[in-house]
Amino acid sequence: MNNKANILAKDLITFIDSSPVSYFAASNIIKELENSGYRSLNEGDKWKLEAGQKYYLQRNNSAVIAFQLGSEKPWQSGFNIAGAHTDSPHLKLKNESLTKSAGCLKVSVETYGGGINSTWLDRDLSLAGRISINTENGVQNRLVDFKRAVGFIPNLAIHLNREANAGFEYNKQTHLPVILFGSDKEIDEKNYLKELVAVEAGVNADSILEMDLFFYDTQKGAVIGLDQDMIAVGRLDNLAMCHCIYKSLTAADNPQQTNIGVFFDNEEIGSRTMMGADSNFLNSLLERIIFALGGDLEDSLRAKHHSFLISADGAHALHPNFTDKHDKSYAPLLNQGPVIKMSANFRYATTAETAGRFINLCNKADVPYQKMANRSDLPSGSTIGPTSSASLGINTIDVGNPMFAMHSIRESQGTLDHYYMTKVISEFYK
Ligand code: ZN
Repeated sequence: MNNKANILAKDLITFIDSSPVSYFAASNIIKELENSGYRSLNEGDKWKLEAGQKYYLQRNNSAVIAFQLGSEKPWQSGFNIAGAHTDSPHLKLKNESLTKSAGCLKVSVETYGGGINSTWLDRDLSLAGRISINTENGVQNRLVDFKRAVGFIPNLAIHLNREANAGFEYNKQTHLPVILFGSDKEIDEKNYLKELVAVEAGVNADSILEMDLFFYDTQKGAVIGLDQDMIAVGRLDNLAMCHCIYKSLTAADNPQQTNIGVFFDNEEIGSRTMMGADSNFLNSLLERIIFALGGDLEDSLRAKHHSFLISADGAHALHPNFTDKHDKSYAPLLNQGPVIKMSANFRYATTAETAGRFINLCNKADVPYQKMANRSDLPSGSTIGPTSSASLGINTIDVGNPMFAMHSIRESQGTLDHYYMTKVISEFYK
């Protein structure tokens, strides 16, 4: 196995293991950016930007945009933008749902995004997210991560559900509540969870106003396979592409064009939030850069015309046990390079022109590439690509790495593909 690819895969796993939910992904990305000299901007301040300097801003503690100003003005040569998303399907805790049942404490959840629900059973689950607390300076946010396994959703024994192997639909309300533990101690059901969270966060329980907490799998990621050529871990969709982008962005030096890395939240639920791709987050940033550099509205439109956006997200690898699920002419394989995603109905933003530009980048980076279009009788998923492309008026391509089990609690992909994609995005930012 390629040694550089292996080192990069391990770095990716470290990032994902320490990013159980989008808030932590954003915070870890920001740490990397700051280590590389990126400075924080606040949307509420007046900005003074200097050529060659590196900046980032965030929304909701869960979405980040980072950029390094190029030596040329954006209206001369455009923005080089690569984007991904920080969120993944999860079970979100319903904070005030704690009840006792059959001698156990359990809590209800809502499904966030379109996960494969059955994969959440019989896993050791922990809880992480963000809480809002009252302080002397008003409402503030804190990240919380229990880290240890605090709950699980046990399957029903096969003896009590003989049909389980014939396919069973888990009811989200009645079958997915998480068992926290068996307990016969007397507790105040309404405040018990808050008190536990307060201890983890090191705050007073009375100061907690509200909580956005999500269950996640505590099993760590691993490099697996006879030749150690696969990565197995949750949230590869889409933290793997976030990792490619921030690694490439922070490695670039003195670019001519302005380089931008975008890490949106909420792609899994349609992107229509203030921190999602279907918001003004990226557009308002592009315009503020133009105005801060002395440009006007026309310069902003010129800049977008000259720009290119790479929307990077997971792609479905051909599954050896389900080979009929792909059009065999468009069936990507593991460790054979980045996938160009195509859709006649623009579920992906790729056009022949933008595909051509990406192919040139792959050739320059000496990286193989593949193409994917869904079977014509199977509807396709989507990405941040079409939304961003339409609202910004920027030429866009959808690409991604081939992976198995997208939206399972544990996904897998090729080690080499991660290395390849990072090489291509790095070439883009050069
Ligand atoms: Zn995705």
